[in-house]
Amino acid sequence: MEAYYRDTWAEINLDHIYDNVKVMKDRLPEGVKMFAVVKANGYGHGDWQVAQVALEAGADYLAVAFLDEAISLRKKGIEAPILVLGATRPSDSSVAAYWGITVTVFHPTWLIEAKKDLKENQTLTLHIKCDSGMGRLGIKDRQDLVQIEEFVEDNPQFIIEGMYTHFATSDELDVTYYENQYTTFQEMLSWLKIRPDIIHASNSASSLRFDKSHFNAIRVGISMYGLTPSLEMEHLLPVPLKEAFSLHTKLVHVKKLKAGESVSYGATYTPEEDEWIGTLPIGYADGWLRKLQGIEVLIRGERLPLVGRICMDQCMVKLPKRLEVGETVTLIGWNGNQRISVNEVAVKLNTINYEVVCMISSRVPRKYIRNKNVQCIHNSLL
Ligand SMILES: *Cc1c(COP(=O)(O)O)cnc(C)c1O
Repeated sequence: MEAYYRDTWAEINLDHIYDNVKVMKDRLPEGVKMFAVVKANGYGHGDWQVAQVALEAGADYLAVAFLDEAISLRKKGIEAPILVLGATRPSDSSVAAYWGITVTVFHPTWLIEAKKDLKENQTLTLHIKCDSGMGRLGIKDRQDLVQIEEFVEDNPQFIIEGMYTHFATSDELDVTYYENQYTTFQEMLSWLKIRPDIIHASNSASSLRFDKSHFNAIRVGISMYGLTPSLEMEHLLPVPLKEAFSLHTKLVHVKKLKAGESVSYGATYTPEEDEWIGTLPIGYADGWLRKLQGIEVLIRGERLPLVGRICMDQCMVKLPKRLEVGETVTLIGWNGNQRISVNEVAVKLNTINYEVVCMISSRVPRKYIRNKNVQCIHNSLL
């Protein structure tokens, strides 16, 4: 077990991820596959740890944003099929083929370039990306789709395994734009001469809300981590989700500040009376951003505010009384009967839960819980 020598850690509950995958997979009709989306180091949770438990729980396929992320999973021994959702350079086709990774084709000229790179004995598996209204990546015109199909017909080194699109508003209560995208994608499917094996469109939000857009696979990211795709649709979740990410630290120093003395850079906090202040070994370089000044943390189930500016590596908490060094402090998650959710931190930062879990940096060691015990610790520094 890798060690860490600092009193700050994120705890990743893999049991919760297992349960989330299982409960969502069990809802699906027979034959509908599930992609577990583990891009961005598994939304900050750890890519291969999440990949492994998601596959155990019934996920069929993995998805990442970039080829490097896919190769990284292969190097850690993950053998399941992996789809790269983002743009892969056509000049990296032979690398993708070498590692047995499925890539996204989003323009016919991509194939012409990719063919130059691919070695004669290699084959490359593709999913065609359609832009039905996200305006990000994908073909829009019938002619482009026809060209892709014709090119692949003439070049058996390429295999079209799937076709997909991505919804822009499926987490919003107003379904008008979602419906338009759904219709557009249906039309695009009708342009195909041969329907590929795997047709997919749904992210977490749409897979939880709209059965009709399952097609024969769904791509599940945020909900697998137990987080709601948006606050707006929280009440629409058909299954309970269990948050997997929590963040903890410990008091490393406790001292009494006299009235009139200040805390941290800029001396922005000056108590009017004597006050107990604790120092925490976490700061903005860990992803605990300066904008979080004033947010509450939990000690012994009590909510206490961070005071003064958050530094690069440390921040300070106002204590109700003298507390012992070594006391556990929870920044995200349960502590006693109190909880700070990822959403609460997101609201404080005026952002979404996705960004909060992604922003906790690799300097923070991850402690993995499986079958209710610590399974392993991952410290990217050691
Ligand atoms: C990130 C991503 C997903 C997963 O979305 P969630 O909202 O996290 O479920 C699915 N599809 C594509 C193309 C993505 O980029």
